[in-house]
Amino acid sequence: MRQLDPKITASRHLDSFAYSLVTDVGQQKHEEEHLILKALGFKINPNNKFCKDMNEVQKFRDNWEKDREKLDYEIDGVVVIVNDNETFKRLGVVGKAPRGAIAYKFSPKEAETIIEDIIVQVGRTGVLTPVAVLRPVQIGGTTVSRATLHNLDEIRRLGVKKGDTVVVGRAGDVIPDIKKVIKDLRAGKEKEFHMPSRCPVCGETIKKVAGQVAFKCVNKNCPAIKREAIYHFVSRKAFDIDGVGPKIIDQLMDAGLIRDAADLFSLKKDDLLNLERFADKSAQNAVEAIQSKKKVALDKFIYSLGIDHVGEETAFALAKKFKTLEKISETTLEELSNVPDIGPVVAKSIADWFQKPYNQKLIEKFKKAGITTEKEKQAKGADKLAGKTFVLTGTLKTLSRDEAKEKIRELGGDISSTISQNTDFVVAGEKPGSKYDEAKRLKIKILAEEEFLKML
Ligand SMILES: [Zn+2]
Repeated sequence: MRQLDPKITASRHLDSFAYSLVTDVGQQKHEEEHLILKALGFKINPNNKFCKDMNEVQKFRDNWEKDREKLDYEIDGVVVIVNDNETFKRLGVVGKAPRGAIAYKFSPKEAETIIEDIIVQVGRTGVLTPVAVLRPVQIGGTTVSRATLHNLDEIRRLGVKKGDTVVVGRAGDVIPDIKKVIKDLRAGKEKEFHMPSRCPVCGETIKKVAGQVAFKCVNKNCPAIKREAIYHFVSRKAFDIDGVGPKIIDQLMDAGLIRDAADLFSLKKDDLLNLERFADKSAQNAVEAIQSKKKVALDKFIYSLGIDHVGEETAFALAKKFKTLEKISETTLEELSNVPDIGPVVAKSIADWFQKPYNQKLIEKFKKAGITTEKEKQAKGADKLAGKTFVLTGTLKTLSRDEAKEKIRELGGDISSTISQNTDFVVAGEKPGSKYDEAKRLKIKILAEEEFLKML
């Protein structure tokens, strides 16, 4: 589907099932959505089933694990979704994943093969990942020739050596990994793996990351790191630039046309025409695809920067809290640590990233290239509690503790579990604890439940 030339896409005879109806036409159950979709002429999956309890869910999944070969497409599990839409809604989301739906995967398929070599890949954060080069083997309909070994600890845990016969597993599209070594098949020629002392790409010294199992290339100009960072930048969950994938980025970097992700936005059609595989139309399409992404949601922008430990969910939390990239870049370590769901390691990683001159320059380049973030659509008064810190104590009559916290956060306020000089309000329900006395002592405004509700 991501081809620049729609004719190639058409030639592939893609097909799909519709699973969910976004429009509210009064449906109350998820299963009704399938019927409505069918009535509207969409293809729906005939193998859906309403299960009345978890036993039935288990049975359904287990049956499909046995029967999956009967389908003319590959599946790696079943999706279990809460049927009652109201309940589904109330369960809420974690990051972007709804709590009311899970992918219940099948156990991965496995195959035996030989590790021909162990090489080292340099990721976008400079971390070195050992990768097993496998004698190609078929697993679940695809040829697998590489499997990640994650890190030295994993290599030790598996006891894996070059030349070993191993069991390789693969679940869906997930990168294959080594399940175990078949030590009985060793011939004595197998070789121990050692982390190289120099980066395999730039030749700089490798450092062990303190407190972690990872080894890192610390050269900020390492071509491998820059390359991976741009792959990440254009990927689907980041800027999602259609038709500009790793191969094209490699070509652009090798030709010296780009050095970082911001350079993508100054590419002209003529720059691309000189490269292999580009014709007039495809060059035009690629440039347009890049230019069309100049306006981006803030959380995607943050995610695309590839900051260590900042996944989708953290990016989302940062965007919600700070609203602009400038604000995040100026934020202190302490303020970052106070964001819900952001721990000290992640906070430090974010602060470090924004302090590096190289990254500041990159942000500046993005600005010059005209990248802007979409203003989040917000309910009226969405920041009316901004900058205020609340402490809750006692039992509220109309709200649970979690609901109260959620409401405060929705309106931009912060929650703390302990009272300090930074606390603005203490919400006191029935039978408040020692926090109530503490608040009195520190002369912090205490809110009764009714006053608190009025504030919301
Ligand atoms: Zn390097």
